[in-house]
Formats: sequence, C-alpha cells, structure tokens
Amino acid sequence: MSDKYAVFGNPIAHSLSPLIHTFFANTLNEDIEYGRVLVEDGGFVKAAEAFKASGGKGFNVTAPCKIDAFNFVDKLSDAAKTAGAVNTVKFTSDGVLGDNTDGVGFISDLKRLQVKLEGADVLLIGAGGAAQGILYPLVKSEAAKITVVNRTASKALSLAQKVNSDKVEAKGFDSLCGDFSIIINASSSSLFKELPPLDDSFIKKAEFVYDLAYTKEGSTVFTQKAQSLGVSSAFDGLGMLIMQAAASYEIWRGVCPDVEATITYMRSVLSSR
Ligand code: NDP
Repeated sequence: MSDKYAVFGNPIAHSLSPLIHTFFANTLNEDIEYGRVLVEDGGFVKAAEAFKASGGKGFNVTAPCKIDAFNFVDKLSDAAKTAGAVNTVKFTSDGVLGDNTDGVGFISDLKRLQVKLEGADVLLIGAGGAAQGILYPLVKSEAAKITVVNRTASKALSLAQKVNSDKVEAKGFDSLCGDFSIIINASSSSLFKELPPLDDSFIKKAEFVYDLAYTKEGSTVFTQKAQSLGVSSAFDGLGMLIMQAAASYEIWRGVCPDVEATITYMRSVLSSR
C-alpha cells in the first residue's frame, strides 16, 4: 500500500501540492498517495485524527489551518515556533511533529536565484502569516537591515516587536524612507490584482524584486510593475512554493526531490491551464 499524505485547508481545490508531491515521488521512484482534505470551520482536529487513523503518514497545511495545526501537534520545530504556525505535520512513533518550511523554502529560492543577501537593505511588504514565516529567516541571514512595511502599520510594528532584533524596523507606507536593494512583496495584494501603496521611487532603485504570490504567467502585477520601472530581476513565488514542498517531502521521507525539474514541470502545467 502507498504511503499516504495530503494537504489540509479551505478552500483546497486550487492547491498545487498534490501535483508537486506526486511529481517528486515519480521522479524519485517512490510510491505515495497525496490528496486534498477540505477542512470545515472548527473541524481541523477531527479531520487530522481521521487522516491519521486511515494510515496517513503526514500532511501539509495551508490557510486558514496553520494555527490549528500549531495547536494540534505534540512537538514543534524551532522554525514552527518562530513562525507561530505549522505547515508540515508528521506522524511518528514519538508523537505528532509540527514544522514550518515556508522560511527555508523562501531562503532556498533566493539562493537558487543567486540573490546576495549579504549586507542588503531589505524591504518586506506585508505583516500576515507569510511575512511572519519569512521574517525570522531573513533576520538570521546576512542581510544588514529589514524594514517591514504594511498597509495597516500597527501590524508591521507588532511583527517587528515579536522579532526583537536591531536589524528590524517597522514603518507605514507614508513614513517609508531609504534605499532598498531587495524588495519582497509578502502581502496578498497580487491575489487581488492590486499593488501595495509603495512609491515607484523605491521600486526603481531595487536590484531584486520578489512576490510570494505566483501566477501561470510567472509574473504578478507587482513584478510586472517592477519590470516596467526597469528592474530586470523580478520573480514570482512559484520557486518558494516548490522549495517549501521539497523541504516537507524531505522531513517525511528523508530524501530531497529535484526542485529544478519540478519548477520546469509546474510552469508547463500552469501555462497549459
Ligand atoms: P494574510 O492574509 O495572512 O496577510 C495578508 C497581508 O497582505 C496583510 O499584511 C495585508 O495587510 C496585506 N494586504 C492585503 N491586500 C493588500 C493590498 N491591496 N495592498 C497592500 N497590502 C495588502 O496572507 P498570507 O500572509 O498568508 O499570504 C500573503 C501572500 O503570500 C499571498 O499572496 C500568498 O499566496 C503568498 N504565499 C506564498 C507562498 C509561497 O510558497 N509562494 C507561501 C505562503 C503565502 P493588512 O494587515 O493591512 O490587511
């Protein structure tokens, strides 16, 4: 019988995780089954226990269940503790382990894209779950300074306070100043085809722009805007999605999938839709 995994969330029909993990397994000659679990409001624990009872080995977690998963597991990794959220659950004989691979997925994708974090002034847009997940890895990286800016400025402040690092400061868009060589859009603005209220002058000076959102075209309204302002290195978040999935796969199965082949495969799947 195949080892059983899934992604939990609501909505879940759009999730690319089954395609990604099935491709990982096929290229590694491993036999897994990976499905989707729609979690009804308040139904996370019941769904997780039913999945375990049916022989599930582990599962991924997406919105809005990452905090439910955080509260469900017996043991948390350091990454899950700092992110305050769990996106990877593993059932073991020692109990239920909770991890968070968003941060490592993000940093791995920047490495793949050969972004130099060393000494960089980074602007991080957004203060939701995704921004929290990547802020700690950014603080631990060689970046010199990280400025968190958010539409609701008070949320940027709370996020920066949680990290408690000299490298981090919080701003509202109105009070933003300075030059940023790297701009990361971790807000969900692109999902609504909107742009964050960031003055063009900041974008023009950036060397690298990254949007965590991803599209079948491989660009978002934000990366398109950056390109129109002359930023040649502007990328969407498909690489991060695949990198975080690969890190989950490795946690479950101890082997690292071929991420480059998966990115090529997923780009072709998305563009044919
Ligand atoms: P949340 O709902 O937790 O947070 C949303 C954030 O976006 C808030 O800071 C919100 O600001 C801000 N925001 C929303 N709309 C706008 C807008 N029009 N202009 C400016 N700011 C806006 O979402 P997540 O943090 O979970 O997700 C954020 C993004 O990251 C999404 O695009 C998601 O798809 C992507 N993501 C990608 C991953 C990947 O692997 N590539 C992994 C995880 C997430 P406010 O506080 O003012 O409401």
